[in-house]
This record gives sequence, structure tokens and C-alpha cells, in this order.
Amino acid sequence: MNPVEISIHAAACRGCELCVDVCPTRVFKFDADRRLCIVDHPEDCIACLSCAYICPSHAISHTGHHLVKNFYRDDDFCKRVERFL
Ligand code: SF4
Ligand code: SF4
Repeated sequence: MNPVEISIHAAACRGCELCVDVCPTRVFKFDADRRLCIVDHPEDCIACLSCAYICPSHAISHTGHHLVKNFYRDDDFCKRVERFL
């Protein structure tokens, strides 16, 4: 079971369809009658968060996803810092 839950603040959605276009797994669908997007296939969400990032209304939020922060080690910088250790 996919633990990621997606919610769309319907009152904030302006129906631009950017989330529909950006989602790599086609989670969203545009509801033409209500002029807003809806979550159609939440089970396919891979939690890339592209939709939340691109939404101009900040209307999309997720829960239950795991965030990983990348860590980069700059060896040159570490050598410079070693002088002070
Ligand atoms: S990107 Fe945001 S404002 Fe645009 S359709 Fe999706 S939820 Fe609505
Ligand atoms: S987080 Fe990524 S996969 Fe999930 S609904 Fe948004 S764009 Fe689609």
C-alpha cells in the first residue's frame, strides 16, 4: 500500500492543470465541470513533489512521504577546515 496521501485545497486551486502536466505517473485528472484538478490515482504517486513545487496556489500537500536530504562532501573544503581542528 502506498503510504503517501495527497490533498488538494479545492478553494485554492485555479485550474491551471500544471500539476496534471508535470506529474510523471499521471496521478491527477482535470475536472472540467468544476474547473479544478482532482487526485485520480493516488496509489501511483512516487512522492517526487513536483506538483507541490509547481502549483502556483500552493494548493497541493502530501503526508506520509519520506524525505531524503542529499549530503555532499567537498574534499578540498574539508582539507582547509582540518587546519583548524
Ligand atoms: S497546479 Fe495547483 S492550481 Fe493548478 S490545477 Fe493543480 S492544484 Fe490547481
Ligand atoms: S508528488 Fe510527483 S508523483 Fe506524486 S502526485 Fe505529485 S507530481 Fe505526481
